[in-house]
Amino acid sequence: MEEWLEQVWFIPAETKPNSVGIIISCGIHGNETGPIVACNALLDLVRSKQLIPAVSLLLIFGNPQAINAKQRYLDFNLNRLFGNSTAGGTEAQRARQLEQACHRLQQQCGRIRWHLDLHSTIKPSRIERFALTPVTRGEYQLQWRPLLYAGGFRGLVRQTRRANTFSQYTHDHFGTDSFTLECGSLLQPTNQGDNALLEWLVAMVTEPSALASEHQDAPLQEFRVAEDIIRHSDQFQFMIDEQEPNFSPHPKGSLIYSDRDGPFYTSEQRYSLFLNSRVEVGQRAGLLLERIQ
Ligand SMILES: [Zn+2]
Repeated sequence: MEEWLEQVWFIPAETKPNSVGIIISCGIHGNETGPIVACNALLDLVRSKQLIPAVSLLLIFGNPQAINAKQRYLDFNLNRLFGNSTAGGTEAQRARQLEQACHRLQQQCGRIRWHLDLHSTIKPSRIERFALTPVTRGEYQLQWRPLLYAGGFRGLVRQTRRANTFSQYTHDHFGTDSFTLECGSLLQPTNQGDNALLEWLVAMVTEPSALASEHQDAPLQEFRVAEDIIRHSDQFQFMIDEQEPNFSPHPKGSLIYSDRDGPFYTSEQRYSLFLNSRVEVGQRAGLLLERIQ
């Protein structure tokens, strides 16, 4: 096991160290404790040789300074800084380092099969655990539905607008099967520790094929992003309860927000996700989803 950077661990597979690599990341937002605790436990299992990954693993604690400070971030949201080399500040520097670590894994292993970037939602969700894909080119290599289902993930959100997230970066640069995984809310007990998540991660790095065969019938609710809600001015305000849980439904014709260009009504039934009006002008204040399955 090698520490390539502060809190970035390369754990070679015992048998075929150079065949293929995988990435698990957590703590891109420093206050999302549940996945950080699970990944620390995973690292302890590796250290004590109770766990040897089937393929080489890069285990990343995304933002150590924010993790120590128990804050979402210090200067800027790290998950908006990947693939954007002109940004400055603590998080921008870290994004460059993490990108380089991924390139090093690619050079060492030849191919990166998958990347799971673990997060917690700020608010509770009607679907407690769910996965998001970045904007993808083509289908993923693995059959992910049974694998995600085995981890308790019951929703899948396909993003339609490119953002400078870590999962978008790894998918774009390495053709990796990449997900942002929302593993529960900051308000739930799982944010203090999450044994179910740990057990799933252990299975994913050792024998994922067993998980896949157990959960062939994996009924995930599937959505695609219909609208990005962008805060265009200081006049922006939600006209629905911003504190509602993620995936709250809004029928066709609902008034969702108003901004300098006037009110916004839904053209079809939509589901809200990540509502947060306290973002900078020009940043995303939420998503509206359409159900596709
Ligand atoms: Zn997060």
